[in-house]
Amino acid sequence: MNSGLFETVLVANRGEIALRVIRTLRRLGIRSVAVHSDADAGARHVREADAAVRLASGYLDVEGVVAAARASGAQAVHPGYGFLAENTAFARRCAEAGLVFVGPPPEAIEAMGDKIRAKAAVEAAGVPVVPGGAEPGDDLAEAAARIGFPVLIKPSAGGGGKGMLVVRSADGLPDAIASARRTAEAAFGDGTLLVERYVGDPRHIEIQVLADAHGNVIHLGERECSLQRRHQKIIEEAPSPLLDEETRRRMGAAAVSAARAVGYVGAGTVEFIVPGDQPGHPGYFIEMNTRLQVEHPVTEMVTGLDLVELQLRVAAGEPLPLAQEDVRLRGHAVEARVYAEDPARDFLPTGGRVLALAEPRDGDGVRVDSGLFEGAVVGSDYDPMLSKVIAWGPDRASALRTLDAALRETSVLGVTTNVAFLRALLADPDVAAGRLGTGLIDQRLDALLTAAYGTGAPPDEVLAAAALVLQDRLSADAGDDPWEVPDGWRVGEAAWTTWLLAARGEPVPVRVRGLPGRAAEVAVGDGPARAARLTPGDAAGAAPGERRGDVLVTLDGVTARYACATGGGPAGSTVWLGREGHAWALTRHVPGDTGDRAAAGLAGDGVVRSPMPGTVLLVKVTPGEKVTEGQPLLIVEAMKMEHTVTAPADGVVAELSVRAGQPVDMDAVLAVVRAPDGSPDETGGS
Ligand code: ADP
Repeated sequence: MNSGLFETVLVANRGEIALRVIRTLRRLGIRSVAVHSDADAGARHVREADAAVRLASGYLDVEGVVAAARASGAQAVHPGYGFLAENTAFARRCAEAGLVFVGPPPEAIEAMGDKIRAKAAVEAAGVPVVPGGAEPGDDLAEAAARIGFPVLIKPSAGGGGKGMLVVRSADGLPDAIASARRTAEAAFGDGTLLVERYVGDPRHIEIQVLADAHGNVIHLGERECSLQRRHQKIIEEAPSPLLDEETRRRMGAAAVSAARAVGYVGAGTVEFIVPGDQPGHPGYFIEMNTRLQVEHPVTEMVTGLDLVELQLRVAAGEPLPLAQEDVRLRGHAVEARVYAEDPARDFLPTGGRVLALAEPRDGDGVRVDSGLFEGAVVGSDYDPMLSKVIAWGPDRASALRTLDAALRETSVLGVTTNVAFLRALLADPDVAAGRLGTGLIDQRLDALLTAAYGTGAPPDEVLAAAALVLQDRLSADAGDDPWEVPDGWRVGEAAWTTWLLAARGEPVPVRVRGLPGRAAEVAVGDGPARAARLTPGDAAGAAPGERRGDVLVTLDGVTARYACATGGGPAGSTVWLGREGHAWALTRHVPGDTGDRAAAGLAGDGVVRSPMPGTVLLVKVTPGEKVTEGQPLLIVEAMKMEHTVTAPADGVVAELSVRAGQPVDMDAVLAVVRAPDGSPDETGGS
């Protein structure tokens, strides 16, 4: 029996949000239909839905999704967020095809879809907006002079912080406008820009609203999303540590007015920017997101409401089941976004195959919204957000503690993530004290990176553990007979095996002798020999030659538990070790083997590799061309972020392995630069 809402709902999305929607559908007894690309045929959202339909042309294909919905007998389509969630053509096509689009009316999406129109509409309804000017009516330079520097240039059709630029003086304006326009045209197909006063030391506070088709509009309080990088949210919480009851009421009323101004129906978010030095300031409207937000779980945890259920009820024509005075905020919730990115490499997107995965369990104030699974391949085709870890507590301090504990239990091996950085951020004294601002991460970046990753090289214990894993694998390959263990054991003598291991930077020699499973010794670099033992955890499911599961590593009598996986990495010889939210990838370095050396990220062989999975946007050199160290060779783009790849040394472009438009994996060879005399460069290897 279902709830009398819909019998079948198609979820037009993938990853964690598709799973999140499916969870509510299941609870309500509604049949769920997933859609998937070919690459996602084995993904979790496909396995957990009641039925799944393949999309031949991908998730953005409006006709394909509508046809899938009709073929599967769905009455409604939930778009999640991203993809088709704010696509008015899709909303209209659903209606034409007799499907209920679980979202606002297309006119409301349109009115809020463009920042310029949205600001005009809400300003007319009496909601304060940031002073500024907008094309085509205003000349941006004149408007900037009028409002005073610094100003912010924004694409009107923008999202995700793309193309937004802060300009501090009039001289910087022409370049910034040209660059923002290029990004806007490439990312959104619309180069229209607006200029706003740059609110100093700002905080981002947004209000969750809910409206039904019967004229009821309420708000569910605020979320503070001030911890951002490149204008992208990383950690969000509810309630805001900044707001008092009176300011909450005023901002809530402004958000409700903004929603009413465009005839809003469904769940939506009204975003405000608040000057950091004026805590009681009710904020300026910046935009409205006409969909569910990534950070909606924190609101759910403090209100006890299921926003997806409410979206479905409203879409089915029901009136809101609660009035404003029924909304109660209880306790505090904080969400951390887990991204496939490497904070230590300038937050470049990463990728790879998930070799081993541990996530905290739902319950006891912890919620995990994740699309991850072992074997999942993370590439550059989709958003790099992998999962969200959310924690609730009776107060802010306990919510932060619970979140940190949950992140400690998060271990993704095979794909580098930002989990260690998230933990460092949560431990920052200002974050702990609720002194937040959108500039905090940038101002504190070096200290946060050092707290998360130390000075570069992994701790000695981790290097020792990796060498023990490699040595153990060698002994396992040789069987249990100690005489067959290659160069690890001889009658009457125990020989040392040296493993050269690199994470970032120079490889470190780690010597091991003996059998790690029984008794061994290990010495890192010039360090002393320590008694060592490796106790394998459950390695079930690992392919031959791979290890996957926990290992216990004992050094001088002290035991630490690591999540462990081997077999991944660009050179196929990487040991992944995870502990307390950290994940280290240690690549075995074989002397003289340039492939391995390059895979370990070491310069010197002239091989130029892609720093991230993405697409080659531009090739700036030709084979045979003379180049100087640092000269741009190519531009690789992922998630609309451009990264310039430069020549590692003076030389000649000996090989050019890619052309513009070509997709590339992380660490794919892009080019080879040789010393000018034609011989390989100074390291001699080739
Ligand atoms: P997008 O749609 O690309 O996400 P938004 O307009 O929502 O763009 O802004 C994203 C972020 O940029 C905000 O959360 C805030 O950190 C910053 N921001 C936006 N407008 C301003 C402003 N006028 N002054 C200062 N910061 C701003």
